[in-house]
Amino acid sequence: MTHRTTWARQPHALDLAAVLLALLLGLVLHPTTAQAGTITAGDPTTTSADPKSIVFKIRVQAPAGLQTATLDYKLFNPDTVVGGSQQAEVNGSTATEATVTLETNTATRYIPVGSRFTYTWTFVDKEGAKVVTPQREFVFLDGRYQWHEKTVGTFTVYWYGDNASNADLALQAAASSTADNEKLLSVKLNYPIRLVVWRRESEGELAQQSRGAAFDRQVITGGARVAPDVVHLYDPIGGFADVVRHEVAHIVTKVAGDGAFGRLPSWLDEGTAVYAQREPGLGYRSAIDAGIRSDGVTRLRGMTSAANQASKVDLFYGQSWSTVKFMVDKYGQPKFADLFKTFKAGGDMDAALKQVYGVDQDGLYNQWRESVGLKPIDFPPEASTSAPQAQGTRAPLGIGAPGTPGSAAPGGAGDGASTSSAEKSSMTVPAIIVGVVTLLLAAGMGFGALRLMKRKA
Ligand SMILES: [Zn+2]
Repeated sequence: MTHRTTWARQPHALDLAAVLLALLLGLVLHPTTAQAGTITAGDPTTTSADPKSIVFKIRVQAPAGLQTATLDYKLFNPDTVVGGSQQAEVNGSTATEATVTLETNTATRYIPVGSRFTYTWTFVDKEGAKVVTPQREFVFLDGRYQWHEKTVGTFTVYWYGDNASNADLALQAAASSTADNEKLLSVKLNYPIRLVVWRRESEGELAQQSRGAAFDRQVITGGARVAPDVVHLYDPIGGFADVVRHEVAHIVTKVAGDGAFGRLPSWLDEGTAVYAQREPGLGYRSAIDAGIRSDGVTRLRGMTSAANQASKVDLFYGQSWSTVKFMVDKYGQPKFADLFKTFKAGGDMDAALKQVYGVDQDGLYNQWRESVGLKPIDFPPEASTSAPQAQGTRAPLGIGAPGTPGSAAPGGAGDGASTSSAEKSSMTVPAIIVGVVTLLLAAGMGFGALRLMKRKA
């Protein structure tokens, strides 16, 4: 029997006989799209019953018996292309439906809804014939809902149900925040952004990366930047437009400041994102006001990543916002943009601050302290050999086989906005938004989440 490795050859008589036989047996459910050699495959499909997995299927006939059926997939984002392979169980079948289930939300792997995939199937039969299917592409969506999409400029929004008005609001707020932050940071976003809007947080819960049951019980997530080009919007309460503005700001800060040598410290990333909101909100304002009154504020150098304690999060965002506002108000936009650019090039925040502002993080902290009426603190000088504070590895990383340990690492840092009057009137316990940025080494993606405190249990 001949072995053919290309996809588009003419079938010979034996193939036709095999196909006819298969048709007679009712094994061919889809029209065949291509054939090669003795291996014939149908139309591949992808489905997601919910955001926790994607099922890839394809009908295949191989009269010589299938040796392997391998799914190869790639995930695209502006920084990296990552991917992986998974084999379907074929057990030497001559006619089967090859199926691979890709888990998308586990302890070690998080592939967010809104991710753009390409994939191929590769079949090898027992005589060594090999066939690769043409590449397919799709955007991974939460299969429990009927999604609509709309593109305006470089933004595409996905929504379902009666949520069209929030989808439009998301498009507008995203465009506006992008323009404002491009101007603030003197950069240009040159890739398209996808916004995925759930109707309410309970419906988007499965799409979120869990931070542990206890934390999840305490917070409601408003939104999250889950990839450099994907934003999730889970909950329209609490100032929907500001949640969008905040998360989209993270997209621009990443472009402006995250480089080969490190990620922005959280105080600067979050401070800029809160600064991008129309209103920082009462929760942050009152937390930073109280922190200043009691001198309970935090040394800037210690704010590389956000507190994981919900009780400290408002102060973290409030102080980050206040520091950024101080920098922009006192020294102006060009220096602020220059700081991002300098940090991106070197990955060392103290060095970048010294170069642009003439002070390190302690010096900036003391300037800010004095600006709010607090006494400066006499810090011992930092060792001059201090390493960049953020990890330098941003290279593409494989997603790994199922069960591969350590492919995702939850990080610190956070996110946030504060309460709107609507939340306050609707909750007996004052609500605050807390947030989380989790660095996803698995996919090389930053993940920022905007969360609301649920009432305490
Ligand atoms: Zn944030």
